[in-house]
Amino acid sequence: MQQHTYEISPGKSLVQVLETIQQNKDYQKASDKLLIVYEPNCDSQFLDKERKTINKILPDVKIAAMTTFGPLHEKFIYQKHTRLSLFLFESSHVTILESDCLGKTQDAQGISFGAELKEIPDLKGVLCFSSNASFCPANLIQELLNANPNVPVFGAQAGTHTIAIDESTIFSKNRIYEKGIILVAFSGKDLEIQTEYCLGWKPLGKEHVITKSDSHGFVATIDDNPPEELYAKYLNVHFSNHFTENVCAFPLIAKSSNTLFAKVPIRYSEDGKLSFPAELKIGTKIYFSYAKPESLLQETLSAANRIAKFQPHGILLFACVNRQLFMGGEKAMRELQYFAKNFPSTCTCYGYGEILQTKTGGGVLSSSIVAVAFREGPMDISIPIKPIVDRKLFSQKKNTDLADQLITFLEKTTEDLNHTIDQLADMAEHEPLTGLFNRRKLNEYLEYELGKRHKDGDFSVLMYDIDFFKDVNDKFGHNIGDQVLTRISEIVRNSVRACDIVARWGGEEFVCILPNTKIGGAEILAERLRKKVEKSSFAPLKKLTISLGATEVRTDDSFESLIIRLDKALYDAKKTGRNRYCIR
Ligand code: GH3
Ligand code: MG
Ligand code: MG
Repeated sequence: MQQHTYEISPGKSLVQVLETIQQNKDYQKASDKLLIVYEPNCDSQFLDKERKTINKILPDVKIAAMTTFGPLHEKFIYQKHTRLSLFLFESSHVTILESDCLGKTQDAQGISFGAELKEIPDLKGVLCFSSNASFCPANLIQELLNANPNVPVFGAQAGTHTIAIDESTIFSKNRIYEKGIILVAFSGKDLEIQTEYCLGWKPLGKEHVITKSDSHGFVATIDDNPPEELYAKYLNVHFSNHFTENVCAFPLIAKSSNTLFAKVPIRYSEDGKLSFPAELKIGTKIYFSYAKPESLLQETLSAANRIAKFQPHGILLFACVNRQLFMGGEKAMRELQYFAKNFPSTCTCYGYGEILQTKTGGGVLSSSIVAVAFREGPMDISIPIKPIVDRKLFSQKKNTDLADQLITFLEKTTEDLNHTIDQLADMAEHEPLTGLFNRRKLNEYLEYELGKRHKDGDFSVLMYDIDFFKDVNDKFGHNIGDQVLTRISEIVRNSVRACDIVARWGGEEFVCILPNTKIGGAEILAERLRKKVEKSSFAPLKKLTISLGATEVRTDDSFESLIIRLDKALYDAKKTGRNRYCIR
């Protein structure tokens, strides 16, 4: 396959470029041809004319086009002219799916697209363009992935000329969509696609929680307070004309399956809500984050080197303007150049949000670079691949400046504080002698299980108590008594499933919650525990036994009624001779 990237300029018109393409022999031979168009002009009449011109000169090319960002800021380097990237395949194919998504929920549209994609043999990747910042395709692309778990979805939300007015638009061969989706499915036996995600920002300070938000990306409260309070408190930034520049160095970060994703607000509303390109669900945990420009560059350089090793025949980059606002144009261009160094046809665009969804997570992203490399046919292992190096990165001045030292200080202090928080959280849930859950945590788990029970026997509970434990203390002393408690706890912990909860109820009485277990299962466990304890050595004691009671939950059980029945079952075991279990 081949990729050719063109930029329309005063001396090179769209018609001239299209005619050059038309005359290219490889164009005529190609098994399939795709023209990707990045257009900084958002005028719909202009776009429609552009679409018709392409159709006229290249009637058999497939088209995926989106508008890009204009001059957001006086220092911002933006795309001034139309950019075209042509993909010519030797044996692979592209299939375009498109919809204005009207009259259908995102989930339904995603499911229907997902099913269509499933029918395409050797599907390797899906490019997704969406228009209108308030139409975030997060749920839709999740559905695409659900239907095709091994197929990455990548792309961008179209950008707009001026950030104050959202004129983002996309178009295909057929029509323009002011609110819609265009998918390009890449398929072929010989086609390979590798995706890379570059972020570089690291979480800093304490965790915050989204407490009120809607599906359009508006966040009304964080930690139950208006978002402005958070920015004012930690960054001394207020909602004002310079808000985006003032916060560009500190994107919010959320974690998903161990990967970090930045969430950068695009604007704030009159009533104090913050607007994000993608929905931030209630309960999402977020952090402020920071980065040194050098570490952003370093991470991108590593990704560019992985892509170089892949020996690409085509590269698409989807980048975030926030990196430019933060690093400045020179550095932001430099990191994009890492990819173009070995592959000059690399084509880049800036939109509202980058899209990358793979089975390891992702979605609609911010502050990142998503790199997608294409190759048709195998790699040529005889070609040596020289790593891309950026000498400027290593020629940084040696002496650390004050900002660097403060960042290191904050980073280490955050680490220490997080460690202390983890320890405190652990202490709040466990009891010190046996390391089992304490009664407070047990109550919490029990309330949780009661809350989700639907029918009798959805879970069971087990209680055990050591027989004649007073005698152990009396004969051998309290220390040996404590050791016995620890040892029994170890035995029990090693005998239950990972999902079972074992807690110290008090003194030498313990309770196990057994999720998804009917009374029959609880009886089997009770007998197993009884035998194990009876057979274990508790030297210097000659013998030690426990008595157990068990019961299964009923639909009409309250917390109290369940515990009373459990307590009675244990009492039955004690009454009828100990070293046994009874059920109620
Ligand atoms: P039974 O078979 O009826 O259960 O007889 P028992 O002697 O075990 O009676 P009971 O349950 O009333 O006795 C509980 C004893 O457990 C009393 C208390 O001294 C002891 N105990 C409670 N907590 C601890 C502890 O943390 N360490 C030690 N060593 N002993 C404890
Ligand atoms: Mg006892
Ligand atoms: Mg007791």
